[in-house]
This record gives sequence, C-alpha cells and structure tokens, in this order.
Amino acid sequence: MGVYLDSVPFSGIIRIRDMMYSVKDPFRLDQGDVSFDAPATVKQAMHRAIDENRSHYLQTTGLPRLLDLLAEKLRQKNHIPVGSAEDVMVTTGGIHALYIICQGLLEPGDEVIVPDPEWPPAAGNILSAHGVPVPCPLYEHLGWGYDLDELASRIGPKTRAIYINSPNNPTGGVLTREDLARIGALCRERNLWLISDEAYEDVVFEGEHLSPASFEGMYDRTISLFTFSKSYAMTGLRLGYVVAKDAALRDRMKKVLFYSASNIASVVQFGGIGALEGSQEPIDGFRKELRCRRDLFYDGIRDAAGHVFSGDPPKGAFYAFLRINPEWKAPAGIAAASQSWAMTEFLISKGRIGCVPGVDFGRYGEGYLRFCFARDRKELTGALDSMRVLFSGA
Ligand code: PLP
Repeated sequence: MGVYLDSVPFSGIIRIRDMMYSVKDPFRLDQGDVSFDAPATVKQAMHRAIDENRSHYLQTTGLPRLLDLLAEKLRQKNHIPVGSAEDVMVTTGGIHALYIICQGLLEPGDEVIVPDPEWPPAAGNILSAHGVPVPCPLYEHLGWGYDLDELASRIGPKTRAIYINSPNNPTGGVLTREDLARIGALCRERNLWLISDEAYEDVVFEGEHLSPASFEGMYDRTISLFTFSKSYAMTGLRLGYVVAKDAALRDRMKKVLFYSASNIASVVQFGGIGALEGSQEPIDGFRKELRCRRDLFYDGIRDAAGHVFSGDPPKGAFYAFLRINPEWKAPAGIAAASQSWAMTEFLISKGRIGCVPGVDFGRYGEGYLRFCFARDRKELTGALDSMRVLFSGA
C-alpha cells in the first residue's frame, strides 16, 4: 500500500466544502472559483469539436495547434524565450501541471522551499512526490513578500527547488522585479530549479505580472506553470500547461503525463484553442470587474466588521486574506483547534458565509481568514449583510 500517502494531507478546503453542503442558501466565498462563464469563443470551439467528432486519442503533450499558440503566447505576453512548441505541454489544469513537475523533478527527500501561507496543493504535490516542503514565511508588513535573507537561509544541501506563486493565493501578494531578480540570483548561485506558479498572471490590479523565466539566464532553470482556469473562467474544464527548456526534464514529465492522463481531454483542448485564437478582451473585462468586487468587498468589510477584520486590498489574485482581531472570542458552542478554524465555523454555522481558515495555508496563516471575492456581487453583498448582523454589537 502507498502508506506514505497517509502523511499527505487533504486540504481543509474539502472539509469546508462538506460543511457548506449542510448550510441552506450559503454564500460560497470559500471556493476559489470565479462566477464568470467561459467566453463564447471557448464554448463555440468545443461545440464545433463535438460536432466534428474530435473525440479520439491525441498527442500526449497536446494538440500541435494548441502548443503553437501557447508557445507564441509565452513569447509575446510572458517574454519567455521559448525555442519551439516542444518546450510546452498541456495538462489537466494547473494542479496537474504541478503534479507532473514534482514527479518529474524530485528525488525522494529533495527539499522545495514553499511560501507560507500558500495554496495547499503546492506542499501536497511535493509530498506526493516523496519530496519535503520547507516553508518560508510571507509577511503582511512586507506586502505579503519574503524577507529575502530569510529565504536564502532556508536553502540547504537537500534543497532542489524554490516554488514561488505570484500573484499569491491566498495573500494576493505580488513579487516585485527586485524580488524575482534576487530569487533568480539565488537559484543560479546555489544551482536550484525555480518552479513558478503563474495561475493568477492575469489578475494583477497594480503594476504588471512578471514571469521569472523571462529574466536573463533564467529560462534554463525555471519551470513555469499556467492555467486557463482563472484567465478564461474555465475552472471545471481542467486545462493548464507547463513550459520548460530542459529536454531531459521534459521527457520525465512527459512520462508522468502519459501515465496519469494519456492525453488531455480533446474537446477541452479545442476550447483552449478557441480561447487563444479569440479576442482577449474577456481577460480585461474579468480583471476590471474583479477590481470592483475587491473594492466593494473591502469597503463592506470595513463597514460591517472593521473591528473584527483588517488588511489592505491585495495587489493581485482574488482573495481577501484578512487578519482576525486577536481579541475576538468564539461564542459558546464553537469549539475549534485554532482561532482561524473557530472563526470559520462561526461564520459558516451562524452566518452561512463560506471562508477558509488561514492555518489551512500553513502555520504562518493562523490568525487570518480567506474570502474569495470573485463571487458575483449579490453573493458578496449577501455575505456582508450577514456579517453586519453577526458582528453588530460584538
Ligand atoms: N496554482 C494556484 C496558486 C492556485 O490557486 C490554483 C487554483 O486555485 C492552481 C494553481 C490550479 O488551478 P487549476 O488546477 O484549476 O488550473
């Protein structure tokens, strides 16, 4: 039996999802899913693929047309010096991209430095590949960035890679050009791989998204992963991709891709072609709307629960990662292992408001709560109204 899997945790997000099913008319601010629908170009391309019976086996790494479009997108938009479409492979979403990277890259016992707090599947995927995640804190007072000396101090003889995620889930922090340059220099000096998770590349409210593989000399040692989930509202369709220059690593990842998926769903890949060939306007539209929702949510929180939650609006991604006032005490009847779990249980059971406890994202996330503000405006205002009632007079 794969006994080691017993020590690979499931994310608490699954426990919360189950809790939410017992709530009538819930506000689903726990899920990292957008309320938008996939653009018409995606749906039309998938319809066409079904009508044309594109339902047969495909190339393991992806449809050639899709790989060509992705290589071009990575060159033009991300400024990554992609040599040919062979550098790219498509996956069943970003989570599967990270899976094949970890399985293809890591030897048992290899350490990977991960941010804390961080999207739980990052550590989970490293553990699943018999690797060891080494947390390095992100600090609220640094705009949810690293203390880079501390990051350097986490590197040891077993470190194989640094995993970064900018914009970050759950904090919304965006690494600066200087941060990325220093992290790149560390990777070169210490001969490390850089795994760059760019799931939220299109959700940056201030400044611009930078791909570290575009930095001088970094494409050789950077494995970048992307997804259609957030950019094109394709969360359930499951389409992501990896780009890496190293051919030996790609061969290993291709084996993992083959044995875990054979090929990625044909109709979905045609949807991806539709997304890339069509207008990119929906991406800007989503971002503009997300910015309005961010501001609506933060204004609402200040008004409804400013004495309970604090934090600055994030620069990227679509989560409010809010500090819980340490003075807050759970009412009688709410017994939980930590303050962030107590607040989560309180908001779900008494206010129908879904959220995720900060501690689920790592030890340094304790004392915080994550809300997703990519839900539609009605759901956000409903949650805020409920919060106002819960915390009035508290
Ligand atoms: N990376 C990060 C940081 C995420 O937050 C997510 C999804 O929430 C993903 C990757 C993967 O997304 P998907 O598997 O839906 O493509």
